[in-house]
Amino acid sequence: MGRITLDKVRKAFGEVEVIPPLDLTIDDGEFVVFVGPSGCGKSTLLRLIAGLEDITSGQIRIDREDATDVPPAKRGLAMVFQSYALYPHMSVRKNIAFPLKMAGMDPTEIDKRVNEAASVLNLAQYLDRRPGQLSGGQRQRVAIGRAIVREPKAFLFDEPLSNLDAALRVNMRLEISELHQTLKTTMIYVTHDQVEAMTMADKIVVLHAGRIEQVGSPLELYRTPRNRFVAGFIGSPK
Ligand code: ADP
Ligand code: MG
Repeated sequence: MGRITLDKVRKAFGEVEVIPPLDLTIDDGEFVVFVGPSGCGKSTLLRLIAGLEDITSGQIRIDREDATDVPPAKRGLAMVFQSYALYPHMSVRKNIAFPLKMAGMDPTEIDKRVNEAASVLNLAQYLDRRPGQLSGGQRQRVAIGRAIVREPKAFLFDEPLSNLDAALRVNMRLEISELHQTLKTTMIYVTHDQVEAMTMADKIVVLHAGRIEQVGSPLELYRTPRNRFVAGFIGSPK
């Protein structure tokens, strides 16, 4: 279903190599967090997986099939953007339905999927409102709803909570973890926040200047950081 394999994936912008050749496997159903300081290549790596950027060399496989040249809309992955990407003039229902409508799906099926997503996200009573009439957390749930209705093989999140206040961030963090437990779909979550990484991840990928410093569970990274960079970043006492 949602197994993603990167095989010697490399990305250069002109002369500048942002991601040196990198291998990584993300198992079906895993919650994987890419963590690292600003500018280390987290968003670039996510965009390569999504197909929003072309890789310079290497191969990306989704469910064992070569997806390297598959366009983003055909990869079966859904990127969750920050809530300000919602359409302010459309109702919540229309915002969530939008990708399905664009894909030409049957309206009855669209309604069914939107209602299911609204129920999972506790948005059922807000479907006729506009984004401006919702709280920040509700708006972020609408943005997630827009990904859920596509029934993707994997969800890709790029710092989805970074424009929310601290209390709401904690709340949404728990909600996204719960959503993962409910849907059991692969999730790749980018953040520069160690706390988010440690509390949400099955597997953490620590990035530094486009390279993977270490991959492991939060406990493994905390107990046996491979080097000072990982230790410092994870907040390990070592
Ligand atoms: P992060 O998300 O970890 O903050 P990014 O993936 O956005 O990091 O960026 C990694 C590096 O790639 C940065 O040095 C950034 O300046 C560079 N970069 C990102 N996108 C482009 C681009 N379109 N053209 C040139 N350089 C880019
Ligand atoms: Mg980024």
